[in-house]
Amino acid sequence: MIVVLTGAPGAGKGTQADLLAENHRFRKVSTGDALRKHVREQTEIGLKAKSFMDAGELVPDDILLKIIQEEVGKNPEETVILDGYPRNLEQLKALEELDTEHDIAGVIHLHVKEDELVERLTGRRVCPNCTATYHMSFNPPKVAGKCDKCGQSEIIQRSDDKEEKIRHRLKVYANQTAPVIRHYENSDQYQQVDGSVEMAAVTASLAKAIEALDASRAS
Ligand SMILES: [Zn+2]
Repeated sequence: MIVVLTGAPGAGKGTQADLLAENHRFRKVSTGDALRKHVREQTEIGLKAKSFMDAGELVPDDILLKIIQEEVGKNPEETVILDGYPRNLEQLKALEELDTEHDIAGVIHLHVKEDELVERLTGRRVCPNCTATYHMSFNPPKVAGKCDKCGQSEIIQRSDDKEEKIRHRLKVYANQTAPVIRHYENSDQYQQVDGSVEMAAVTASLAKAIEALDASRAS
């Protein structure tokens, strides 16, 4: 079965999907990771995708779907956690029509309040030299402003993580992705998990939510 993990930027989807894959027998499929792999390995799909990325355009849905189809595979016994897709209702529809042995068990909304998302995202810093990441409140470097890992560089805020950009990303999310949640919200194919508590507790709640989706699928 496929479980769609969705939530706003900064909610922790990627991290939690990794933890679920590590601690439980779920398989994470991240469209972002898979796309980068194809580009790196210069596959036919990767080269096509890269031509759009180089032009500053979004990678079209048919390319993303091909990637998902390949990553999801044909083993319906597996639980696949889909991270990063669908981002809008059109993509949801395409996913529902995907030619696969899997069924979509439902959507889990990893929920974090907007103010907290802004705090998480604006506090993020990266090292331009070794790409180590830090957080001003939750994971600061030992020496203020300096990268611990390589010791070579001042850490910086990516332009994407400036507050104005973040508010914009959250708005795009509210306009584009939140309708995916509303589409499922009042069905038994929907679970909401509080993403603002301690990391291990979030992982445990997500695992429970996946079980609940599986159970309601069987009934
Ligand atoms: Zn560094």
